[in-house]
Amino acid sequence: MDRYRIEPGTLVDLTRWDPADQSALEDDKKTARRELKALNKRLEELQELLYAEGKHKILIVLQAMDSGGKDGTIRHVFDGTNPQGVKVASFKKPTDEERAHDYLWRVHRHTPGSGEVAIFNRSHYEDVLVVRVHNLVPPEIWNRRYDHINAFEQMLADEGTTIVKLYLHISKDEQKERLQARLDVPHKQWKFAKGDLAERERWDEYMEAFEAVLSKTSTAAAPWYVIPANRKWYRNLVISRILVETLENLDMHYPNPEEDLEGVVIT
Ligand code: ATP
Ligand code: MG
Repeated sequence: MDRYRIEPGTLVDLTRWDPADQSALEDDKKTARRELKALNKRLEELQELLYAEGKHKILIVLQAMDSGGKDGTIRHVFDGTNPQGVKVASFKKPTDEERAHDYLWRVHRHTPGSGEVAIFNRSHYEDVLVVRVHNLVPPEIWNRRYDHINAFEQMLADEGTTIVKLYLHISKDEQKERLQARLDVPHKQWKFAKGDLAERERWDEYMEAFEAVLSKTSTAAAPWYVIPANRKWYRNLVISRILVETLENLDMHYPNPEEDLEGVVIT
């Protein structure tokens, strides 16, 4: 899945990344669905092993435009994993207390402990995305944050965290369809927020802000992946492959049993 990883120091132009790409698909869609099922099972096993070994910490950062598929990714890719070892943290508009602190304060406490997977549904990157697009702080302040973020993530990595950052890339047309579906389908209406339309109007500014994020904060310790996300099944396939690959590279082992269990008799 290297084709979707941003090499550190690359200047990213998102118009050159096709949200409908499916070039990593070797076979037909039916085969892909079968592969996805197998990957899902493998991810379950690897997460159990991660939890049992209790050594590594995994942080997955999800960022996207509204309706980009963050929720769907969490539901489908992590389907079947053990909720004891996987926690999701969703970052909304900061509360008064959060706003009274530095922007990493609310984030740090949700980072994973040993044996855990933490999924960030939005993240500290909002502080250089929505904050930048809406001028919530002056440029000299958000401009410094890329360096802070890189240093923060490097620290997490030095302390044993494996970080995977996923930008779900959809097209503006695809977003229109998805927002329209939220309007049209009664049981989806709860997801529709009029405010999403105001954000949509700033699409180009968001793309610029995402390009800056991808260009400045993809590091060896915490790489970004641009996930083609117009097609949900392909998005899930690519993300599942990335996560399975990442976990397999950790070379994990089940802990040794307490003692020689051969002679143990349960009466
Ligand atoms: P859904 O897909 O269900 O709509 P969501 O992640 O969009 O989920 P919302 O409650 O709709 O959740 O939106 C959260 C909002 O909070 C987003 O508009 C996001 O930009 C905003 N937000 C998150 N972090 C910050 C921040 N640090 N400063 C300002 N706004 C933020
Ligand atoms: Mg929303």
